[in-house]
Amino acid sequence: MLRQVAEGVLIHESEFVQSNAVIVHGRAGVLLIDPGVHGDEMVCLGNDLRELGQRVVAGFSTHPHWDHMLWHTGLSAAPRYSTARCAAAARDEMSEAGWKARAAEWIPPDIAEQISWDLFGLITGLPAGTARIPWDGPQVRVFEHQAHAPGHAALLIEERGVLVAGDMLSDVLIPMLDLDDTADPIENYLAALDLIESAADDVDILVPGHGSIGEAGQVHARIDQDREYVRALRDARVPGDPRLGPSAKEGWDWVASVHERQLRRLAQRRERDRTPG
Ligand SMILES: [Zn+2]
Repeated sequence: MLRQVAEGVLIHESEFVQSNAVIVHGRAGVLLIDPGVHGDEMVCLGNDLRELGQRVVAGFSTHPHWDHMLWHTGLSAAPRYSTARCAAAARDEMSEAGWKARAAEWIPPDIAEQISWDLFGLITGLPAGTARIPWDGPQVRVFEHQAHAPGHAALLIEERGVLVAGDMLSDVLIPMLDLDDTADPIENYLAALDLIESAADDVDILVPGHGSIGEAGQVHARIDQDREYVRALRDARVPGDPRLGPSAKEGWDWVASVHERQLRRLAQRRERDRTPG
């Protein structure tokens, strides 16, 4: 089911970790950002669009994680974009032997069996530094940053005041840092939040990749909340974060284990950096 969040901007919420697909109406069809997860949900999305007399004319993946790189035959064949760095990361991963089996380890079995692997990750990287998505519709500005994943992009649908945050600024998920691909994940994450904050005053509606839609008043609050969490990680303080502990949303208690894993990984990195050679 599609829900309008701003003029010409709709979302489709998945049952899988409250993932939000975003649909933007253009002149000849729609732009589909992070299409969704379950195969039957994407079929439903395709049907809803057909009933509206619409078809997908462009796609965009905010980052190279499996739950943002899916597509389905029930959606039209359209060019699918990402940042150059995102596409390169996806290409590297998919060029390694056994990548499907490795990817499937992360994916719940009921979803894995529905995946159109032939269409998985078929994205074209936009040239580095591309400011806007090339398509015939409202201008969508690309804010690339290195924080959650290589080549992660937040998107600002300028004329609609909608920020599509990818896996940043969630009310239910803590910041999940890219601890594999960057030399300084903490500082990168803080820089990314600063970059997004530079656009915050133009935002009326915030759509996170997972979680609840935020109104204008919540944009700065969510940035501050993520910044506080990352600073606590940096300073090895216990974060007083509402997404962790008894205040976590029902069904989201597993987020605490993500936090514990990040603490362990960061401690290992610090240990490694201290050990010469
Ligand atoms: Zn992700």
